[in-house]
Amino acid sequence: MEDNNLFIKIETSQLCVFVTLRFFEYGDPMSDKNTYTLPMDPARNIRKIFIEQSCQDIPYTRDILDRAKDIPVEVIPDRTTPPINAGPYPRSLTKGKKNLLLTTNRGSFFKPCPGTKEYCCCDYQVLNIGMNCPMDCVYCILQAYLNNPWISFFVNVDDLLSELDLAFHKTNQFWRIGTGEFTDSLALDSLTALSKTLVPYMRDKTGGVLELKTKSVSIGHLNGLDHGGRTIVAWSLNSPVIMSGEELKTASLDERLDAAVQCAEWGYKLAFHFDPIIYHQGWQDGYESTINKLFDRVPAEKIAWISLGALRFLPTLRPIALTRFPNSKFFHEEFVMGLDGKFRYFRSLRVEMYKHLLYHLRRRAHPATCLYFCMESDEIWQECGFQPGESKMLPTNLDKAVRTDA
Ligand code: SF4
Repeated sequence: MEDNNLFIKIETSQLCVFVTLRFFEYGDPMSDKNTYTLPMDPARNIRKIFIEQSCQDIPYTRDILDRAKDIPVEVIPDRTTPPINAGPYPRSLTKGKKNLLLTTNRGSFFKPCPGTKEYCCCDYQVLNIGMNCPMDCVYCILQAYLNNPWISFFVNVDDLLSELDLAFHKTNQFWRIGTGEFTDSLALDSLTALSKTLVPYMRDKTGGVLELKTKSVSIGHLNGLDHGGRTIVAWSLNSPVIMSGEELKTASLDERLDAAVQCAEWGYKLAFHFDPIIYHQGWQDGYESTINKLFDRVPAEKIAWISLGALRFLPTLRPIALTRFPNSKFFHEEFVMGLDGKFRYFRSLRVEMYKHLLYHLRRRAHPATCLYFCMESDEIWQECGFQPGESKMLPTNLDKAVRTDA
């Protein structure tokens, strides 16, 4: 990580004081001229770029390479795997995540979020822009979903936009679209600049909104885009102990909130996700302090929605995470198998944690902000103070929070 602090020595006749200034300028992050001073850019973790042969002449690829400057590049045959000598999976992830493969998405870009019918789902649509992530969260479900250690990014963006065109033309449905399902929405944006395509594209789409969900502060390209209020910039938040100990290479809480304030000033709507909520010593104070910091800094009326989701994971994730992060403790708690085949905390503990967070959120949230649970049953909603049937209204209420045409 770069040292982004500037130390200024101020000398007076009897005193010598060192003052630390932290730069916060959001210009073009990969520009030479710019004082590139963001606290942390996960794209800087990329050490090598591989390109599938058929992708090398796509203009989008050329643009990425222009921005990548000194990062070594290797062209590989189509449908082959990058020759990375990183050992067996999952240990290979640590090294593998430093490699970016520019490739083509040969399947669909646009799909409904794979929610399960047993729990209340928000009817989200996933826009699949790539796989894997340069940051490294201990609980990241991608470690169990994927079996490749490198990061893939799809450069056939024209196909992506054609699919979106079709979706917007064929129905009157209102689409809430997110790119953060199989990767982080902005972690590589200083390299890929995908936001500069997607955000203006959504500008006139009255039939939907785009949510860019991140744990980074790579927001430089969002500056000055004509977003028309149709892009929501969202951050995952957690207790400070979890953010600093279990979310490696991510931005700190203060950095995330500073970036959120900046996006609000640029006119973007915001969202926050307390997900996964993790049981740990001092969790009550930890989550309370994050919620207080959030509302001390960020204008409440700018927040479209805030979600809550307790830790849940596929059984295969635990051994993978413990192999990679043996000192991590939270996987050693007791869990119960949910109806969706994922482990989760016992119901009583989930309700206790949800009630605590909701109490502090409700005290300070704007009345128009939609608070909701991600993948919980109607019974849990009611136990936590929601009205009967409110969970069933979730998609409508989320739409209401951002629709300007309704
Ligand atoms: S930021 Fe998201 S996608 Fe990236 S490692 Fe963490 S959980 Fe996974």
